[in-house]
Amino acid sequence: MASKPLWTYEAHTLHDLFCEGAVSAEEIVTSHLARIRAVDASVGAFLYVDEAGAVAEARRQDQWSAAERRERPLSGVPVAVKDNIVTQGMPTTAGSKILGEFVSPYDATVVVKLKQAGAVIIGKTNLDEFAMGSSTEHSALAETRNPWDLSRVPGGSSGGSAAAVAAQLVPLALGSDTGGSIRQPSSYCGIVGMKPTYGRVSRYGLIAFASSLDQIGPMARSIRDARLLYHVIQGADRHDSTALSSAGDRTVSGGPWRIGVPREYFGEGMDAGVRRLTEAALERLRGMGHALVEISLPHTSYAIATYYLIAPAEASSNLSRFDGVRYGMRAEGRDLLTMYEKTRDEGFGAEVKRRILLGTHALSAGYYDAYYLTAQKVRTLIRQDFDKAFQEVDFIVTPTTPDVAFRRGERDDDPIKMYLGDVYTVTANLAGIPGLSMPAGVADGLPVGLQWLAPGLADTALFDAAATLEPQMEPMVWPMGVEA
Ligand code: GLN
Repeated sequence: MASKPLWTYEAHTLHDLFCEGAVSAEEIVTSHLARIRAVDASVGAFLYVDEAGAVAEARRQDQWSAAERRERPLSGVPVAVKDNIVTQGMPTTAGSKILGEFVSPYDATVVVKLKQAGAVIIGKTNLDEFAMGSSTEHSALAETRNPWDLSRVPGGSSGGSAAAVAAQLVPLALGSDTGGSIRQPSSYCGIVGMKPTYGRVSRYGLIAFASSLDQIGPMARSIRDARLLYHVIQGADRHDSTALSSAGDRTVSGGPWRIGVPREYFGEGMDAGVRRLTEAALERLRGMGHALVEISLPHTSYAIATYYLIAPAEASSNLSRFDGVRYGMRAEGRDLLTMYEKTRDEGFGAEVKRRILLGTHALSAGYYDAYYLTAQKVRTLIRQDFDKAFQEVDFIVTPTTPDVAFRRGERDDDPIKMYLGDVYTVTANLAGIPGLSMPAGVADGLPVGLQWLAPGLADTALFDAAATLEPQMEPMVWPMGVEA
């Protein structure tokens, strides 16, 4: 038996211990469930924990031979799923009241893949309602706190997944990233989070926010673990025509690399600690023999405006399906129209309504050309900025966010300030390229994230590159105690 509590181990180690027969899946799962019981009342990462289902699955796996365990890369490993990814037999809420008691009749493709890989699905994590936000404070259902400092937000919208991994409630979690929702909470919680190239992971069963930007991706405490989870969930899918197999993946030479440092990502408004730790990480990369190359991504300053037109426009269309007829809650009205209105008025929170209004306006006759079409043109320019940059450099390295985790409530009545925090992350979604956030260190007790960007379809190369830096960084000391 292991000497440290099992909940402190990374996924690949748990899997190895299980394959060797050193621990049972039931021991692994019950250790994590005990950790959740001990800690999650203060963190609030989970909306739903499937204790009975997880233990039953663990017991089933304990009957497997060593070979059967080895065949499945995540056998014995507890995994949490963001609650905008549908799961059969567990509730799916998207952090909204409008889904009511909804239980999906099918599993998302990523969930099917997790199960095939032997993952034990522990439960569903909190998020900003419909993944709209950067703090998880827009969840209509629960509060999630940052395990590094409970008075602060975990980031968002995958804040529950990030907090669960950082607090060692699970070694792995799925998030979704439309404009930074995997990378920003990973940065705020000191973990690794990766947004794949648009299309590398199936979106079937992900409740759509902005379909041309959304991607599901892995969150973990190491790059190795994040890569393991990525390899399980990626690939083509007959249910999602945008999902691609690894056949077209791009490779990058083993280095030394030319690493692009975009001048637009180091301007004003960056916290001193973020700047210091980002520069220190860049120095380490230089010390490893790579060339740091100053580059320009000239349309960066338009990225937030572009994103906050395109994402709400797509959301306003996607969210029209929540009408009181097909899913979840219904508020009765005297006629059909009143029923729609009351259901949507009572079911959606303020931020979701704001996005629907913004998006409907941007798409309306007379404004479509001025807003939506212009935003699409600027999106192309942003993509071209990256195309040009990647002719010069192999990777781009930036801070993940301009700041560290902010205090709960601090940006409540300032949506613009909340939006501006997405400045370094939305560009990867607009361009469709992969992005990874890894810990750059801790400044004044709060983690800082370092973002790596790669050309489209260079996802595996992106993990490989970031993995070379990881051992050069100070090892993380995880918050909320190492001992049970
Ligand atoms: N923070 C961004 C927003 O509020 C990104 C959200 C996301 O990636 N899902 O839209």
